[in-house]
Amino acid sequence: MVEWMNINVKEMSKDSLRREFAKNPNEYYKVALFDKEGFTRHTCKICAKNFWATKETESCGDSSHTPYSFFKEKPKPVQYVQFWREFADFFKKNGHKEVEKYPVVSRWRQDLYFTIAGIQDFQRIENGKMSFEYSANPLVVPQVCLRFSDIENVGVTGRHFTSFMMANQTAFDYPKAGYWRDRTIELNFNYLTKVLGVKKDDLIYGEDVWAMGDFSEFGPSLESFANGSELVNSVFTQFEYVNGSVHELEGKVVDVGWGFERLMWFHSGYDSAYEAVFHDILQKLDAKIGFQVDNKLFKKFSTLSSELDITEKGGKTKEHALLKKAGITMEQYEKSIKPLQALYAVLDHTRTLLFAITDGALPSNIGGGYNLRIILRRALSFIEEYNFGFDLNEIAKLQAQELKPLFPELSENLNLFARVIDIEQRRFARTRENANKIIDTTLSKSSKIDAKQLRTLYESNGITPELIEAAAARKNVKLQMPESSYEDIIKGDFADKEKKKGLEIDVKGIEKTEQLYYSLIEESESKVVKSEKNYVVLDKSPFYPEGGGQEADHGSINGYEVLDVQKIGNVIVHIMKDDISAKKEMHAGSKVKCVVDHERRRRLMVHHTSVHLMSAAARSVLGKHAWQEGTKKSFDKAHIDIAHYDKLGDDDVELLEGFVDEKILNGIKVSVKQMERKDAESRYGFAIYQGHGVPAQTIRMVIIEDRNGKFVDAEACGGLHVTGMEQAIGLVKIIGTERISDGVDRIELVAGNAALDYFRKLDSTVSQAAVKLNSDPFKLDEKISSLDEENRKMRKELQELNETVAQQTASSLSSSDKIDREIDVPRAMLRSIATKVVAMNASAVVLLRNKAGETVCISGAKSKINALDFIKEKAGSKKFVGGGSEKFAEGKIV
Ligand SMILES: [Zn+2]
Ligand SMILES: [Zn+2]
Repeated sequence: MVEWMNINVKEMSKDSLRREFAKNPNEYYKVALFDKEGFTRHTCKICAKNFWATKETESCGDSSHTPYSFFKEKPKPVQYVQFWREFADFFKKNGHKEVEKYPVVSRWRQDLYFTIAGIQDFQRIENGKMSFEYSANPLVVPQVCLRFSDIENVGVTGRHFTSFMMANQTAFDYPKAGYWRDRTIELNFNYLTKVLGVKKDDLIYGEDVWAMGDFSEFGPSLESFANGSELVNSVFTQFEYVNGSVHELEGKVVDVGWGFERLMWFHSGYDSAYEAVFHDILQKLDAKIGFQVDNKLFKKFSTLSSELDITEKGGKTKEHALLKKAGITMEQYEKSIKPLQALYAVLDHTRTLLFAITDGALPSNIGGGYNLRIILRRALSFIEEYNFGFDLNEIAKLQAQELKPLFPELSENLNLFARVIDIEQRRFARTRENANKIIDTTLSKSSKIDAKQLRTLYESNGITPELIEAAAARKNVKLQMPESSYEDIIKGDFADKEKKKGLEIDVKGIEKTEQLYYSLIEESESKVVKSEKNYVVLDKSPFYPEGGGQEADHGSINGYEVLDVQKIGNVIVHIMKDDISAKKEMHAGSKVKCVVDHERRRRLMVHHTSVHLMSAAARSVLGKHAWQEGTKKSFDKAHIDIAHYDKLGDDDVELLEGFVDEKILNGIKVSVKQMERKDAESRYGFAIYQGHGVPAQTIRMVIIEDRNGKFVDAEACGGLHVTGMEQAIGLVKIIGTERISDGVDRIELVAGNAALDYFRKLDSTVSQAAVKLNSDPFKLDEKISSLDEENRKMRKELQELNETVAQQTASSLSSSDKIDREIDVPRAMLRSIATKVVAMNASAVVLLRNKAGETVCISGAKSKINALDFIKEKAGSKKFVGGGSEKFAEGKIV
């Protein structure tokens, strides 16, 4: 057990770290500026945290114990883009470079759906270890982040958003480059006092710690507070914790994530961050809002809302207490404050959707799209509930316009946004039709809905908490719901990790297997490193292990069949068909001959390159949003799943196939290049991360160019491709498409020899059918049409014939009043005859049965005999299974 300072690493927590750093404040927190400007250290009387301030004060300034005091009598509107310019200019003047925003969809880190923090832009994780990748140092970046854990707070607390800009001020690699604590706090102080206008004596620096969730990296941090608001946290990533011990990092990182919306709010002095951030848009929408805003009432509420967090336990109770304290009645709250909160939420949600859709994410039922659909439906519900006179497109347009100088890509994607919203809206309307029935049933059982039910209602039926509440209100049911309803249906920001097949072989301590397959070698002399049961590990292997959707190579080792090949870390494990542990020539140390199945390898390569081409086709034909969601490359076919807002039509398929085949038939060139990650990213953009491989420092790029050397596709990929044998693809044929989930289409394709197999099979099936139908294969369509016509005619004739027979039979029976007859025809015919009999003789009761015992009984209008009783009587000792009434009964006598 390793000890660092006095912390047992097994008990590492933020609290224990905080206590440890606090023991040595001069080392971890004190900066030169504190002495120069007269900041001294104090301890909070409320929460016992330590902090630095220029004057005697009892509280650390945290918003949970100090009401906001920065609201202005006459707030000063600030423009979003202009405010960023001032921020960036301050840091540029101080030696920083301004870097463009990264996508809000986390393409370069597979463990997250969205970008949730500015520093994430530069983080690359490989084999569980984090490294940094950056194009400037120090830098500032206007990184828009998406977080969904606080949905219910959005619009209510005055400070929560689902999308916000983290204006990251970052310095890397101290002490070799960048800067450290003194410079960070000096910049912080100068920006806050000189640009933002914070009074020095209002400024408080709170001591805190920051740590990765698993404590793999951590360090002390200094939070800047003023007037009840936390303005920014300056994090000093100083330590790492690996293999049970803590080290000081070689290259330390300063990570200051400025909450841009918070800064704007503070600077302008409005009653909520929403008013500050959406000021111009709110003005433009004013006439369409449809209710009167009571500013005085809202101010009363928002001054106290710093204490509020609806998603916390007891949040709703606290909300009620707060209303009481502010002297606001429930009625006033419902009438004047709630509509405003809903409006703010709609503005926030729309902006989030616009950023997400622009960067290629779509609302759906899976992955990150799940949370997007929730906020979309929440926004639509609000618009309807409060009768706002605008739609999401209108707001998106205003937002794109306002942000255009900083994020021009938003304006370019408004059409896509409109298409997606339109489809989603129709889908939601359908959901709601069914929803009412489902909610009614649920409510009729109980007026209490628990967390599990809420989740099921959303996941299986798309029913949001708002829909349930609205239905309850309509029916006057007093509803009991979990305190934080969205907490229960929302999904976390972290993506599910890929699951690996469990292999029963221990490869610990085995060195990296040399990979021969990348040179497209198909035979080798290798040495057995370990063999056990049906597993073999070699020093070098020509066998491609399953990965990136490409199935493993097959073949043989010393003539023994290889069934599957998997990678564990850097070690390649060959899974043999049979237990080879008794074979001496397969024991560790033996030299073995490896042979890869050539035809299989070739088909997998052909399919892999074809899938890359199809991926390029999807982005070209359908749009930039058509990201790859998954692929599989097998022996006889391949598929690619792509994100798209609608089911693919026949014309889409034609265009996709046309794009790919045009390239292939004219000649393509496939090359593989090792590139520095940052070069690849800056040259080809984040579209290179279509696959699921974890990007490393240098990445293997697969580049496809057309005959003239023009770019077609570039992806970071660890698979095998047809480099130098491009003609092997021959032709790509789409053999099917399927909507595999909301938002994802699967395209199945064949290429090369698999395409040849497919066409041969198709040809022989068609030829056989043609022979059977005595037709020319190319005229099968006409032949089938004429057969169809014949068939229809014959069916009509048969029907007429039946009618005539029924009529005649009925006539012959109708003279009698009590009929019980066996006629061996189908039940429908029995019914037809019986109906005709009572039409001719209203006093008759007629029972007809066939050999199988199927029975029909009809009692005429003037007959006094009960049809059901009549059947039962005639059934005698036999049993009648069926039912009916006094005039009509049917079933079976058995
Ligand atoms: Zn405190
Ligand atoms: Zn690939």
